[in-house]
Amino acid sequence: MLEVMDLPGNAHSVHGVGQRAFERVEDARRRLGSVFGVRPSRIVFTSGATEANALAMHGSRRWLASAAEHPSVLAWAAGTIPVDSHGVTCEPTGNADGYAVMLANNETGVIQPIADARAWATRRSARLHVDATQGPARMVLPDALWSADSVSLSAHKFGGPQGVGALVVGEHEAEPEREALLRGGPQERGRRAGTLNVAGIVGMAAAAEAAERGALRALRDELEDGLRGLGGAIIGERAQRLDNTSCVRFGDLDAADLVMALDLAGVQVSAGAACASGASERSHVLRAMGIPGSAVRISMGFATTAADVHGAIAALARILPAKDLK
Ligand code: PLP
Repeated sequence: MLEVMDLPGNAHSVHGVGQRAFERVEDARRRLGSVFGVRPSRIVFTSGATEANALAMHGSRRWLASAAEHPSVLAWAAGTIPVDSHGVTCEPTGNADGYAVMLANNETGVIQPIADARAWATRRSARLHVDATQGPARMVLPDALWSADSVSLSAHKFGGPQGVGALVVGEHEAEPEREALLRGGPQERGRRAGTLNVAGIVGMAAAAEAAERGALRALRDELEDGLRGLGGAIIGERAQRLDNTSCVRFGDLDAADLVMALDLAGVQVSAGAACASGASERSHVLRAMGIPGSAVRISMGFATTAADVHGAIAALARILPAKDLK
């Protein structure tokens, strides 16, 4: 990324310097295609998953989205598909032009049935959009993922820079079948206008290649044993979940209160999604699962160590007795 930041070229300029930037972008596209096993031409670079979700879902189609989706998906849906008490999306009963089912939930880590969703959508001649933001490097990606009509990715979720992502469009999607969301230049074959974030794109490809899955699972299990030992209930624990995410509820204890107390102890967690933190509203994900009260989401990064996990449990063991646990 540092090397590319020194390149003055705009990847869409025809002069030599621009072409060198363009070559970096195309190299990153090829490398991402190879990591994910998709044709590079299916990749449309965006500013992240929020934009990728909008690019996939905007327009006149009527979408139904799983009730536990990220707000950037729910914003485009005409209605929701229920999730069960484990947080897993149920088969929809209503017809729609498209169904949006995320790969894994950002608050609970619960993995969703993408192969089933593909089958539901196909049976109804509808499109399937998958917000796969939480998946890479935190779970084995199912083959069915790449049979979706569109898949959103965000680099910073697998160790890359913030502010860059992609929409992977369908294998046989005719151009310009997908109407551009932003109007302007012809970048990304007319599918996404605007000067490309060359350094971000190169960083995204490098992160995808470097991301290794596996190390976090044992730490997550250790963390959850500790949380249960302190009286915590793990949300969605009977479902398949991401390697790095635990969502825990301590009776009636207010999650926002716990987030603040933990922060003072040097442990950063969130009540629900990071982007909803600060909002006093109850988590729509817990509501959709029929779970009362609030919960704390603890997610681990690639640099999290066993000592961090022990430190978090020790901090909670100090904090919880002082709270009025019912
Ligand atoms: N979708 C999910 C499931 C997420 O977890 C997030 C961010 O946390 C987003 C979408 C938005 O991604 P971005 O910040 O890249 O726009």
